Amino acid sequence: LVSLVGVNKHFGALHVLKNIDLTVDRGEVLVVIGPSGGGKSTLCRTINRLETIDEGQIIFDGTPLPEEGRALARLRSEVGMVFQSFNLFAHKTILGNVTLGPMKVRKKARKEASTRAMELLDRVGIANQADKYPAQLSGGQQQRVAIARALAMDPKLILFDEPTSALDPEMVQEVLDVMIGLARDGMTMVVVTHEMGFARRAANRVVFMADGQIIEQNTPDEFFTNARTDRARDFLSKIL
Ligand code: ATP
Ligand code: MG
Repeated sequence: LVSLVGVNKHFGALHVLKNIDLTVDRGEVLVVIGPSGGGKSTLCRTINRLETIDEGQIIFDGTPLPEEGRALARLRSEVGMVFQSFNLFAHKTILGNVTLGPMKVRKKARKEASTRAMELLDRVGIANQADKYPAQLSGGQQQRVAIARALAMDPKLILFDEPTSALDPEMVQEVLDVMIGLARDGMTMVVVTHEMGFARRAANRVVFMADGQIIEQNTPDEFFTNARTDRARDFLSKIL
């Protein structure tokens, strides 16, 4: 579904992505882990062109990613993103947050958008909160709204950048459960997370990134029990 070929990216003198080659197949769940500053967020952001790249190609659904214009807008609407900070619109209700994209970008009628939004809110377990405002919800609930909002655009891929790391511990699992459900339903997902339980249960592949490079990638079973590089073993010894 998406391929990165020889992707390089600098921030000034800092080489943050070094010759990244990575393919995500349709229906695949990729977990990206690695030390802070290794380039995981930048990788996510380049996939939907929130960041430009200096070199290389990103091919999405068979076509090279455009730099700008309408083609880029369309592409962005097909790639959902869920951030660590939920980024909901504070002045809109939960329902309003979920219907906004479909109405504005997809030009859906309010009624149709609302019906679909309620189905999605139900799927993430918060249909009963539809008329509230984000500040009235817990962090875990807000993050589930953010997932429903991403789903409302019928994305081909959803990028998750540390979706549970800002949550109180007791709310982590409710968000991971929603994500595990999506994975089971065949959603293509790239998930930056240090939740190894999620990686074991839902990932098809774990990608270990450090210093702007993909150091190794493997199935979760292999990676967690038989990491091949010292770098990965060292990292695992610190987080497991
Ligand atoms: P973390 O686990 O802390 O979230 P990460 O793996 O997501 O780290 P990135 O956020 O991708 O890492 O950052 C990679 C490197 O690029 C870091 O050294 C960071 O300081 C730098 N960087 C990120 N964004 C920018 C920016 N907009 N301008 C300059 N440098 C940046
Ligand atoms: Mg990051």
